[in-house]
Amino acid sequence: MNILVINCGSSSLKYQLINSDSEEVLAKGLCERIGIEGSQITYQPAGGKKEITVSPMPTHTQAIKLVLDALTDEKKGVIKSLAEVGAVGHRVVHGGEKFTASTRITDEAIAAIEECNELAPLHNPANLIGIRACQELMPETPMVAVFDTAFHQTMPEEAFLYGLPYEYYEKYKVRRYGFHGTSHSFVSKRAAEVAGKAYEDLKIIVCHLGNGASVSAVKNGKSIDTSMGLTPLEGLIMGTRSGDMDPAIMEYIAKKENLDIAGVMNVLNKKSGVLGLSGVSSDFRDIEEAADAGNERAIKALKAYNYRVAKYIGAYVAAMNGVDVIAFTAGLGENGNTTRKGICEYLTYLGIAINEEANNVRGKDIVISTPDSKVQVMVIPTNEELAIARETLALV
Ligand code: AMP
Repeated sequence: MNILVINCGSSSLKYQLINSDSEEVLAKGLCERIGIEGSQITYQPAGGKKEITVSPMPTHTQAIKLVLDALTDEKKGVIKSLAEVGAVGHRVVHGGEKFTASTRITDEAIAAIEECNELAPLHNPANLIGIRACQELMPETPMVAVFDTAFHQTMPEEAFLYGLPYEYYEKYKVRRYGFHGTSHSFVSKRAAEVAGKAYEDLKIIVCHLGNGASVSAVKNGKSIDTSMGLTPLEGLIMGTRSGDMDPAIMEYIAKKENLDIAGVMNVLNKKSGVLGLSGVSSDFRDIEEAADAGNERAIKALKAYNYRVAKYIGAYVAAMNGVDVIAFTAGLGENGNTTRKGICEYLTYLGIAINEEANNVRGKDIVISTPDSKVQVMVIPTNEELAIARETLALV
């Protein structure tokens, strides 16, 4: 079956058409600047070249229509008609406590997703727009919602409760949810396969280090803790997000800089992290280049980043009373060999030793620890689209 995977943002939409039998990507691409002047669609069939077309996309429905037109185009298309799309899998950011797993999209499911909008006001409404647009254009095609939060719904109360008045949890659902669940699930399962051991018998720490970044503790096949919280702002120092900090800083900075809450949130989400620390960029390639050239703030940013990841790994070793496998994934986790090395230098107390040669390999599942390392350290490229396609197939 061919499964269309849709990841819909407020002004952009990523898509992949995946054959679920071979797990091959038949075509993929991106619509950008939806609803804004200068919208364009990128389309790339398997083995073919990437094509960018400027085309007006006043709405998401129009964007999805362009995607479907490209997929079924006589010349560059990869399918003859929409009848060849067996199902659509939608990425949905927040499933709150309502969704502990992926779900078939029905009117009730849509209403329940809507109820989670408040928890992710930037993401969920956009995800719903994508769902509705697909329903309009493919009313007969079964659809599935795959949630970023669902995998972490196994977290025990002691891990998800904040030290706040309990009624905020009862009344407003203020608790830790965690994100990147599709990736943490995919990578931890794959890590168990690479280790050649049963998923249910392992203690795995997954470090998803991308522009957004989170660490998770997966014990016996279940997420028992993760570094992101009510929103994706908590936890690690990220590209532009602060991660953990003393909440009193908010009032202090608001007074000093004459900012309101929205202004402070903007700083914490968009101007902090390694961008704010280094003053160079949110992209680690730029920061590493600056650090190599002797830029002191870039060096400080990289050190603070590695330290925070190592601290979380230590916390999760404590939470699971041990660790068998540590897996790195996402843009930086997969490509940043110096970052991985820098983090693992804090972990010699766990008996971890890194094989430098393996650590320099790119683009595949690989064990980067030495054979006598007490904990296996791996790089496992994540594939959220494939994970969404698999979930979708399972439910249709
Ligand atoms: P993601 O959000 O998973 O796409 O990850 C994007 C981030 O990965 C970028 O902002 C970079 O900081 C990082 N990244 C990607 N490629 C490399 C690389 N070759 N070396 C270091 N960092 C990289």
